[in-house]
Amino acid sequence: MRNALGLMLVSVVAAVVIAGVWFWTSSPRADAAPPQTIAARKAEPLPPAAAKSAANDDVQVTASLSKPAPMAALAPAAAPIAPAQQKPACANPNALGVARTVVIDTSGGPGFGFEHFKHLDFLQDKEVVLTFDDGPWPNNTQAVLKALADECTKGLFFSVGKHATYHPEILRQVLAAGHTVGTHTWSHVNLNNKKMTEQQVKDELEKGFSAVKMALGQPPAPFFRFPQLQHNPAAVAYLGTRNVAMFSTDLDSFDFRSKNAEQIINTVMTKIDKLGKGIILMHDFQKLTGEALPTLLQRLKAGGYKVVHMKAKTPFDTLPEYDAMMVKDQKLPQISSRPVSAVVQTVSD
Ligand SMILES: [Zn+2]
Repeated sequence: MRNALGLMLVSVVAAVVIAGVWFWTSSPRADAAPPQTIAARKAEPLPPAAAKSAANDDVQVTASLSKPAPMAALAPAAAPIAPAQQKPACANPNALGVARTVVIDTSGGPGFGFEHFKHLDFLQDKEVVLTFDDGPWPNNTQAVLKALADECTKGLFFSVGKHATYHPEILRQVLAAGHTVGTHTWSHVNLNNKKMTEQQVKDELEKGFSAVKMALGQPPAPFFRFPQLQHNPAAVAYLGTRNVAMFSTDLDSFDFRSKNAEQIINTVMTKIDKLGKGIILMHDFQKLTGEALPTLLQRLKAGGYKVVHMKAKTPFDTLPEYDAMMVKDQKLPQISSRPVSAVVQTVSD
């Protein structure tokens, strides 16, 4: 009996050692995939094809796991399930990727972007943050998403509340692709305009967050950018009480007034080469930005720049009265999707 137990114990130990050696020796293959740290792989593992939606990703992962399961149960020592559990690596071996993912504690309303906020200098030399304003917008936002997916990299999107209500499905694609979604007011007004009352400023901020929450089906990051970078001091103080991080920029691409894609690329590369690092302001709302981005991302990679992906530690806590306002403003839902021919039948001509 004792011998039998001992034998079983030896077999189990042997199996564990074999599995361990197998996993150890096979791991470097995954690490051979291009210039991404472990943190980066965890944060942004989707290849372009899978980046279309989170649903797609879930289906792929579930399917690949469900097949080997019975085999694994029969032969635990050989259990080749570790690779299936890893999300697919980036399909582009020369991708820009994500070098570092940072999580921001937004308590008290920290400010980023040296053009206005010089306190938090968290980027290392050659590090950039890609930011996109004013979306979601048909075609243009998707062009930006595709360029980012092709380079297996991530950005930060500041959505206009109204645009989020026009095109919620596009904003959900942004989120599903693993990007961070913040806000940019309800209607893109200049909050520093002297005609704006305190209540109007608050409404613009809160409605923006609630609209983006409604579009996403979950609260956005407590990240905000002032339209036209017009920082109303009272609004800055208010956002501080709401624990919202505020984003200015280190360099403006001026994509909205550029004549062509080349001009955007040259503006960004000239400025970043001078600064050495920084938060880059672009617009997924602009058609030319999507056109410039594939080349721009390759130029950044060639120049030795690395992308930092910014995430929020906790989601934004919307105010219930503004959430209710959004629901009330929404059009009546469509409750039947049957085709006209199924609903309306001609009984006499
Ligand atoms: Zn804007």
